[in-house]
Amino acid sequence: MDLPKLAIAALGGTVSMKARHISEGVIPMVNGEALLASVPELKTLARVNVETLGMLPSASVDFEFLLSVLSWASFQIKQGAAGVVITQGTDALEEVATFFDHLWHHDQPLVLTGAMRSAAQAGADGPANLLDACRVALAASSRQRGVQVVIHGQIHQASAVRKTDSLALQAFSSPNVGPAGLLVEDSVCYLRPPSPRKVLPLPHQTGHRIALLEASLSADTRILENISGLGYAGLVIAGFGAGHVSESWARTIEFIAQHIPVIVATRTGSGSTARATYGFDGSEIDLVRKGALMAGFVCPRKTRILLWLLVGCERQDELADFLKQD
Ligand code: GLU
Repeated sequence: MDLPKLAIAALGGTVSMKARHISEGVIPMVNGEALLASVPELKTLARVNVETLGMLPSASVDFEFLLSVLSWASFQIKQGAAGVVITQGTDALEEVATFFDHLWHHDQPLVLTGAMRSAAQAGADGPANLLDACRVALAASSRQRGVQVVIHGQIHQASAVRKTDSLALQAFSSPNVGPAGLLVEDSVCYLRPPSPRKVLPLPHQTGHRIALLEASLSADTRILENISGLGYAGLVIAGFGAGHVSESWARTIEFIAQHIPVIVATRTGSGSTARATYGFDGSEIDLVRKGALMAGFVCPRKTRILLWLLVGCERQDELADFLKQD
């Protein structure tokens, strides 16, 4: 029987990192071929096309680069791949996953993975994560689930996953919803059916910028006041609690919201913004009255990605539909 085709792209990150000398820190230097060599079992599961598209720490990945990776991944599907796996850094994994998920219109899975321990480190988790990611990308039950992150034996939906620990092996979780599935004795086991997804067209402009600012105690409004003048096309606020800011920030937001979209998310890491609970100046009721939108369950970083993509295809008027709380 013919084995299915699988495409793998390496972008860099800890999974691709080694130290040149024992006294130096690790940097990306392990290419896609070498990553593939660390999972010999894969040969029995698929015919693999592996490419190295980048050697970057994930904090240095930008949207233009991601659009080129997306176009490569789409081409692999058109060439008959049953799924695509991308290895990259874990630091920005949740943002990259969200970016791709909004644009991935194929039924075939796009799976992202990485590692918390570098390639030559004792107990390196890269090979196990890569093999798990490939199993997920090849599973028929992974179709119509959009983009998923597979790491540490768990499958997370792009829309929900977050890096919630800086260095632990179990660094990822999906607050509010939990993982979508697990790898059990090498089998892909989903815990819930796929949920409906809204996919956006590719952005036809990419030069715009969206600012993300976090509300913090006793913060002044100097940076906030300058946002419109600096040419940002939108602003996301990581607000206190259920999506709140100080009275002075609320006054400044009212002015900014007359010019660009302003969305307030929660900085707490889990839960939704409120809609109709608090009435003080700077509360969600006040901010909505002043022209801001509330992000619901969408975290500040994912909100910024969404706004960038919507502005890029001139569909920012649909923002509220994408931020529904229920
Ligand atoms: N901890 C990160 C990683 O897992 C470091 C660098 C990066 O995100 O590329 O890859």
